[in-house]
Amino acid sequence: MIAVKNYINGAYQKPDRDLWLDAIDPSTGKVYGKISNSSSEDVERAYQAGKQAFKTWSKTSVEKRSEILSKIADLIEANIDKLAEAESMDNGKPIRLAKTVDIPRAAHNFRFFSHAITQFFSESHDQISQKSINFTLRQPIGVVGCISPWNLPLYLLTWKIAPALAAGNCVVAKPSEVAPYTAFLLGKLCSEAGLPKGVLNMIHGCGATAGQAIVEHPDIKAISFTGGTQTGAHIAKAAAPLFKKLSLELGGKNPNIIFADCDYENMLQTTVKSSFTNQGQICLCGSRIFVEKSLYNQFKCDFIEKIKQLKVGLPSEESTDIGALVSKPHLDKVLGYIEKTAQERATILYGGNRVFVRGGEDGYYMQPTVIEVSSNDCILNQEEIFGPVVTIMPFETDKEALALANAVPYGLSASIWTNNLKRSLHFSEQLQTGIVWVNTWMQRDLRTPFGGVKSSGVGREGGFEVLRFFTEAKNVCINYE
Ligand code: NAD
Repeated sequence: MIAVKNYINGAYQKPDRDLWLDAIDPSTGKVYGKISNSSSEDVERAYQAGKQAFKTWSKTSVEKRSEILSKIADLIEANIDKLAEAESMDNGKPIRLAKTVDIPRAAHNFRFFSHAITQFFSESHDQISQKSINFTLRQPIGVVGCISPWNLPLYLLTWKIAPALAAGNCVVAKPSEVAPYTAFLLGKLCSEAGLPKGVLNMIHGCGATAGQAIVEHPDIKAISFTGGTQTGAHIAKAAAPLFKKLSLELGGKNPNIIFADCDYENMLQTTVKSSFTNQGQICLCGSRIFVEKSLYNQFKCDFIEKIKQLKVGLPSEESTDIGALVSKPHLDKVLGYIEKTAQERATILYGGNRVFVRGGEDGYYMQPTVIEVSSNDCILNQEEIFGPVVTIMPFETDKEALALANAVPYGLSASIWTNNLKRSLHFSEQLQTGIVWVNTWMQRDLRTPFGGVKSSGVGREGGFEVLRFFTEAKNVCINYE
């Protein structure tokens, strides 16, 4: 049986109180191992290890830090098959996706920040009225907390850890208790890459205990969090009296706006992906599809024809397009939304049911689902479902499309499909989101700012933005009168 232990001070350790959670394989519903159910004592031990390591790591040259991060990237790449299998088993995502997207991106996160830190610079200002020069020191914060969700487990964890370490901080990380296996495996690779002990510490367990202990730790001065909006609000409240730096990447309910003048085939194929990749469990999925009325009926038919071809199956099979949802409670939550369809004056056009897969009869599978809604105000269009469920509705004018897209509490990303340059620029300017994709979806360049507005979060990750988050700016003014 696999035991997902904490990784503290460069070694695997069982939780202080010897309490464990079940690790469940969502493709079969069976227990595959146990996960440390850590407490504040474990967090304290991790913090102390980080504090000690910070004395040296913060003084380690940028070149050396960069070299170690790059070695971690090499080792992730060298272990891609093993990590992909672990990720797929733990999370239910198709093995093909884990191998081609999740794990390569985890390596890329380390590789990218190993380079970015060598290019990071701060500002200086010459005199204005007096003989003085100002320059800014960008100093690491100390021990920082990184808390991540289950949907892209290693991808999103490393998206935080890599820049935090590159900037000279030590880390206490808390991966999601729902899918912690690859984070556990990462510890060993970091040791092999020569990351000094105590620089990265990984605590496993529940959000309300282990996660909360990180947020409430008086000396962990910055928290980078990705997860649900409600959890984000709770963390913001707990962190406020301690004046912590906070980065919050939260939920989304992203519009996918399709105009009749778009490149149709490209739009259709990409819309299938933006709707159902990772069982629709990506914060960036385009879960509200708005289609120009003249194209609406054709789109509906063609979209459903494409969806019928998607294979729901065991995540371990290369031919699977849609694997298992991450857990039984999550499957029940998603199916609960489907039950609300009639009362919300909506119609299921395709899907809506649980699927029983041969070899995984107790697994958490469901059909990709398309629901036609009569209003953007319904629950199905206002709340984050975070499963293989999209809604569609027609619009007639640009003004209406923009109003529908913005009429939601969230503001993470939006896609717009059009070949009209003026329209695409107008929408890019007016959409209330942190990210706009024109004629594409989830095309990522790690140098760009990443994050949301409204209930989708505060702050930006990516590029130099995140290196600024993980450093304190100190201005130095020298008078040479
Ligand atoms: P979640 O909020 O339940 O949990 C996220 C992490 O926070 C987990 O590690 C959890 O243990 C921890 N946590 C829970 N309560 C805590 C507390 N009180 N104090 C500290 N930590 C706590 O989210 P989830 O269900 O794991 O992930 C799904 C959500 O994440 C969705 O809403 C999705 O949109 C969002 N998400 C956002 C982005 C983004 O970049 N904006 C990316 C991926 C996922």
